[in-house]
Formats: sequence, structure tokens, C-alpha cells
Amino acid sequence: MRILIVGAGIGGLTAALALLREGHEVEVYEQAPRLAELGAGVQISANGARVLFSLGLEAAIRKVWCEPAGKEIRLWNTGETWKLFDLGSQSVARYGAPYFMIHRADLHGVLIDAVRALRPDAIRLGVRCTGFDDDGSTVTLRLGDERVTGDALIGADGVHSGIRNILVGDDKPVFTGCMAWRGLVPIDKLPAHLRRNVGVNWVGPGGHVINYLLRRGEIFNFVGIVERDWRVESWTERGTRDECAADFAGWHGDIHAIIRNIAEPYKWALLGREPLARFSFGRATLLGDAAHPTLPMLAQGANMAIEDGMVLARCFTSYGDAETALSQYSAARVDRTAKLVRGATEMAKRFHNPALREAAGAKAYVDAQWSEQTVKQRYDWIFEYDATRVAV
Ligand SMILES: Cc1cc2nc3c(=O)[nH]c(=O)nc-3n(C[C@H](O)[C@H](O)[C@H](O)COP(=O)(O)OP(=O)(O)OC[C@H]3O[C@@H](n4cnc5c(N)ncnc54)[C@H](O)[C@@H]3O)c2cc1C
Repeated sequence: MRILIVGAGIGGLTAALALLREGHEVEVYEQAPRLAELGAGVQISANGARVLFSLGLEAAIRKVWCEPAGKEIRLWNTGETWKLFDLGSQSVARYGAPYFMIHRADLHGVLIDAVRALRPDAIRLGVRCTGFDDDGSTVTLRLGDERVTGDALIGADGVHSGIRNILVGDDKPVFTGCMAWRGLVPIDKLPAHLRRNVGVNWVGPGGHVINYLLRRGEIFNFVGIVERDWRVESWTERGTRDECAADFAGWHGDIHAIIRNIAEPYKWALLGREPLARFSFGRATLLGDAAHPTLPMLAQGANMAIEDGMVLARCFTSYGDAETALSQYSAARVDRTAKLVRGATEMAKRFHNPALREAAGAKAYVDAQWSEQTVKQRYDWIFEYDATRVAV
């Protein structure tokens, strides 16, 4: 089949690669004039890693990843530390795939190379989708004055998806009351005790911080989320180190040692959207953030997009016609992604709980919320999901 994909983000490219490997003709239309990604890290858990490795990307990913030994919880003011879970060989033993951290640009680069190796001209740049027509037997994409026709259309055009607007209308996102800071720090700018290869979730009343290493330990990744009324939902809006530090006033000195050294802090508002009941309509569907935008609290936005790509490709292989393939894809993905989106919203309350304010109450709260059993219940179903085998 001839499949048209709008958007060359992590979602669109994973879908393109999976479809090309299944023998379909695929074209990806990307509005940006050149392929680039944000300066930020992304955590890929076993459910995402399993798909990427099955697409033949393991060797290329291993060259640029960081595989942390574990994850820790730290308390916002005292810095007290609890083990959250073991990663490294433990993730492979328990879930059959690793949990790793990677610079978004590196993952993007690996996907682009793999897509182009199968079809050098599969990705067209500087072409903006302005609409489409589905006549029941083909779908025609409008790219300004140009028209291209295919059997199916995949809207992988991100959180502000135009294709989603056409398919389901503007769903009026709700501001969650939180905004996020992100930034990268060259590792040699940080005190030695912070250069550890573990992921850390700092938790505190009204905010939390995630940090981990990237690019084989050369870069330190910082994401800080605070309850603050600031509403621009953009991943390219700059802030200042002073403004970021003010949002974490009273937090541990390690947090400020990181913030002082962020090369360029960016900030984005966290908006919530109700999950959709379906992603597919006739010959068109949605994938990745276009289908199920999420808050970052479970670190599953990219993982879901990766899973989507694999399930979508398998549906095209299993069903002979595009409409059935797309409706089976939607049926296979809606419940899981809705549960993840809702789970991420719930996590904010846990990370920012008022019980964390005083050290004594905080200890009891962390012990209860991050006990081994609770953590297993919260994460096992996420990491165990196998998009390469799940029924479609
Ligand atoms: C700082 C940060 C940290 C994150 N951390 C994690 C994490 O640890 N783990 C995790 O799983 N997820 C994480 N996420 C979420 C994850 O990155 C996203 O869910 C994921 O990248 C979504 O990919 P996508 O391909 O669906 O969308 P996008 O990456 O947004 O790609 C959409 C593409 O479509 C293009 N496009 C849009 N409109 C048009 C048009 N009209 N015509 C042509 N092209 C168009 C855009 O230019 C863009 O290239 C994080 C996100 C951020 C911002």
C-alpha cells in the first residue's frame, strides 16, 4: 500500500520504518526545512526499547545511549535518597529489554538513517500539510498547491496536530497548573557527586525535578516541573537561569548547582487533554502526540508513539484493506494510551504532594508511595507491553 505520513518526529519516523520493513511504499512530509530535534533527553523504557531493537536499531542506539544503573527518589530540601528501582541488567532480566536515556536528536538521527537506508527519498522536507480529502477509496493530501494520493494517511504531526483538528475538532486543552523547565548541562560543569549514571526524581511540595545522563555520560539532562501559572505550550520558548532558580527557591543545593550551569533553559506549559475514543476515521488516523498528548510524568509520550508505529505496521500486514487496518490499529491502541495519559496526570499529585513539605512526613509518604510492591503495580504493565506481539 501507499501510506502518507505527516510529521517526521519520533512517532512518524518509527511508523515509517516499521511500514517500510513490512514492504509498503511510504512517504513522510515534514514542514521543517531541515531535520532537527529539541535539545533534550528522552527516557525509553523496555516497552519502547523492545520495538526499536526489533526494528534493527540496537547497535546504532548503543553507540549514543546512556543505560542507567537505576532510579532514585530524592527529597526536595534535604536531598534524602531512596532507591526507586534497579535498571541496567535488571530491566533486561525482568522485562526482556533495557531502559535507556538518549538525546532526542540522537534517537531522531538513528531513525532518519534507518528510514533513508530503506528508501533514500522517503522523507520530504519543507512541505506543510494544509488538509486532505478522503473519497472512500483513496486519500489525497494537500501540501499547499501540490496534491499527493495514497491508500492511507497517518497524522503524526504532534501536539498541535492539524490533522487531529480536521478529524475530531479543536478539543480545548486545559492548563494543568504546571509548567516545565528543561535544559542540558555539559557534565564537566557539575560537581563530581552529581555525575552518577542514575536517573533521579526529586519530589517536593508543588514541584519535581527529573535528571539523568545522556550521550554516554557527556551531558546532564534537567527537567523541572513547578505549579505556576504560565500558559505557552511551546517546546522552543526560552527562559532564564534566574527565573528557573526562583521557581526552585528553597530546594537543595544540588538543584541549584544544576540550574546555574544550564546552557539555555527552555520552558513549556503543561496542558491536559481528554483521551480520544478512537484515532481512525476512514482512511486517516492519528499517531503519537497527535493521538494522545500526555503530561511527561510517566515518561511515556515517545514510548507510546514508538509502540503506535509498530502496531500500525502490523495491522497493515494483517489486514488487506486500509480502512480495516486503521480501525484495528485504533482499537488496539485506544485503551492502553488512555490509561497512560490518565496515569501521567495522577503522577503529578504524587510527585508534588503537600505531605513532602516536612522531612518526617515526607519519609512516611515516600516509603508508602514508592514501596517495591507499589512501584511494581504502577510500572510493570507499562514495561511488559510488547507491541511486536500484542493482538491486532
Ligand atoms: C522536554 C521533553 C521531554 C520528554 N521526555 C520524554 C521521556 O522521557 N519519555 C517519553 O516517552 N516521552 C517524553 N517526552 C514526550 C515525547 O518527546 C513526545 O511524546 C514525542 O516526541 C512525540 O513525538 P511525535 O512524533 O508524536 O510528535 P513530534 O515530535 O511533535 O513531531 C511532529 C512533527 O510533525 C511536524 N508537523 C506538524 N504539523 C505539520 C504539518 N502541517 N505539515 C507537515 N509537518 C508537520 C512537526 O514539525 C514535527 O516534526 C518528552 C517531551 C519533551 C518536550
